[in-house]
Order: sequence, then C-alpha cells, then structure tokens
Amino acid sequence: MIRIFKNFFKLFYIFVIFITIFICIFFIPFFNSSYTANTDSGEIIDFNPNGFVWPIPGYTRISSYFGKRKSPTSGASSSHSGIDIPAPEGTKFIAVADGEITFTQFLGAGGYTITLSFANYKITYCHCSPNYIVKVGDKIKQGQVIGHVGPKYVYGVKGNQYTDSTGKPTNGATTGTHLHFGIRIDGKYQNPLDFFS
Ligand SMILES: [Zn+2]
Repeated sequence: MIRIFKNFFKLFYIFVIFITIFICIFFIPFFNSSYTANTDSGEIIDFNPNGFVWPIPGYTRISSYFGKRKSPTSGASSSHSGIDIPAPEGTKFIAVADGEITFTQFLGAGGYTITLSFANYKITYCHCSPNYIVKVGDKIKQGQVIGHVGPKYVYGVKGNQYTDSTGKPTNGATTGTHLHFGIRIDGKYQNPLDFFS
C-alpha cells in the first residue's frame, strides 16, 4: 500500500515539474508588456499598454481626476470616468496608440466625442471640436493628430440639454474648454493616469 502511494507521489511530482516547464515555455512570453491583439476589423496590431503617448502635447495640468468628485456642473458625473486636461479651443490632441476610429458624434455629457479603439481598449476624447478631421473606420498611428479641443459653446445640436448658468448651450457638461480623456478596457473605465508613468 505504501509503495503504491510512493509511486503515486513520484508521478505527481513529475507531473507538477512537467506542467511548470510547460507554463514557462508557453505562457511567460505573454506576460511581457508588449501585446498583440486583434482589432474589431480583425487586423493584428502590436501595442504596449505602458507605452501610450500623452494625449495632448504641451498640456499636463489636470483639473479633475478620475473617480469620485463633486459634480462641477449640472449633469456632469459625480464619479468621473476620465481626467480633465484644460487647454484652449483648437489645441491638437493625438492618438495615444495605434488604433481605429470607431465613434465621432455628439454624445450627451461628453459633447462632441471621438473614440479610438484597439484590442479590448476604447479611448475617448470628449468636448472636441465639431470639425472632425477623422472619420469612423480611419486607421490611426500613435501620435497622429486626431482632433482639436472644442469650443465651450455649441449651437444647433439637436437634443443637447447642457447649458451654462447664462443658459447658453455648452459642448456637453463642461465649464470651460478642456479635453476629457477616458480609457475603457472591456467596457470598464480605468484611471487613465495608470497608463502614463
Ligand atoms: Zn471630464
């Protein structure tokens, strides 16, 4: 009986060693920070989740951080889904990584919005200029200018319920020109600052 157990444990150890070697060979390379994935269109792309470039060159001050906050204006979220980076109207913003444009429309509190997608990531740029320079389906390279910070006020937008204290219609829920920048992975909002060192 004891012999049988001994043999069983021997086999078990051999099995564990085999599995460990197997994991080392086949899985550890994928823990590398570089990442290969399929885009929505099925194209294979390479990107480094720690290698994003800052979305708005020359502007690094953050007026509102990710997470819980006191809502700055009526209709603005009390749990902030991104970060706000103040910048003048017309300031260029860029793609943080290679990807594809998947959305360019007015989107409620976000105002004029652009979404850049790759793998299971969706990058949102809100309160943009309505004069879009990209369109849905465009393939974008990291660092490419994809839009401009929009005006505070926008007129003639159907269904826009956002106004400032003077009653003028605003570019979504905003108190001044800025880029609202958000990152979603599998639909879940992340703290964008976790992606920039
Ligand atoms: Zn914001």
